[in-house]
Amino acid sequence: MPSKKRKYKVDLVIPVYNEAGVVEKIHAQIRAAVDKLPYDFRFIYVDDGSNDGTAESLQWVKQADRRVTVLMLSTNFGHQAALSAGIDHSTGDIVISMDGDGQHPPEMIVQMIELIGQGYDIVQAQRVTEARISFFKKWTSDIFYSFLNAISGTHLVSGAADFRALNRQAVEALKAMPEYHRFLRGMISWMGYRSVILPYHQPARMAGRSKYSLGKMFRLASDAIFSFSLIPLYIGLSSGLVFFALAAAQLSWVLWLSFSGNTQHVIAPGWSSLMAVLLIASGIIMILLGFIGVYVGYIFQEVKRRPVYLLKKEA
Ligand code: UDP
Ligand code: MG
Repeated sequence: MPSKKRKYKVDLVIPVYNEAGVVEKIHAQIRAAVDKLPYDFRFIYVDDGSNDGTAESLQWVKQADRRVTVLMLSTNFGHQAALSAGIDHSTGDIVISMDGDGQHPPEMIVQMIELIGQGYDIVQAQRVTEARISFFKKWTSDIFYSFLNAISGTHLVSGAADFRALNRQAVEALKAMPEYHRFLRGMISWMGYRSVILPYHQPARMAGRSKYSLGKMFRLASDAIFSFSLIPLYIGLSSGLVFFALAAAQLSWVLWLSFSGNTQHVIAPGWSSLMAVLLIASGIIMILLGFIGVYVGYIFQEVKRRPVYLLKKEA
């Protein structure tokens, strides 16, 4: 087990989108929390295609602190892509990702590093209370996580933020997952490494408004659902089976009526054969669609090029 006193190289990955004027404050706030710690810090700011002077703010920060690296993306690729860019460029023993709006308290960094030192691969922060609770955000987040956990094999806690520490092994595993639609929380939970959850109180944004528009929230939810679950593809297959069950029920009913000799009084002529053909044909079509869906799902899993396994350690 690595000793607590080891002088880790720690990379802080901070994606920012239109946070001009805020990044200077964030940087000062983070420095106040980490400068006294006995670790080597490096700051990787990722400018996610901002168009409001964030680039200039970041240049100021970089000029004042040699430990700062600024990555500029060509356009606004989104939070998850920006985080991935920063993580890909990291070299530290520990990589901590956090938001650039002051909502992820930098005072927790020390505890995160200590937990990694104790042998955890991943330290995941979980928002348990929030200064200015947006009821809508909390409600959608709770429902979304319950739904996602129900339909996918991964287990995610509600309020899990993109505020977390990863050790080098977890970072390398994440880099080995080159999929395009990225939902990092899910991917990290999928890796199965030893992780611990650290609850925190989320303060209000330092300035400005949330950069997660409704459209962006929707895209993240769809990336999470469709890249973590093949269940939507099985809808065709299961509805085909339901139609076959209906066909069987209808046929048994018709047979029972004809054996009891009162078909004419209950059923219009031609109804039985028409219904039987309709139910069976729909069943066959849906099952075939379901099969195609399953093949599409398998192709989808292949093209994600996720590793088939991840090693815990080599003895
Ligand atoms: N962000 C980003 N690209 C985007 C949207 C957001 O890099 O397209 C950054 C943003 O600047 C912030 C972090 O991601 O540092 C989290 O975004 P935000 O605070 O707007 O989300 P919220 O806290 O409201 O969920
Ligand atoms: Mg925020």
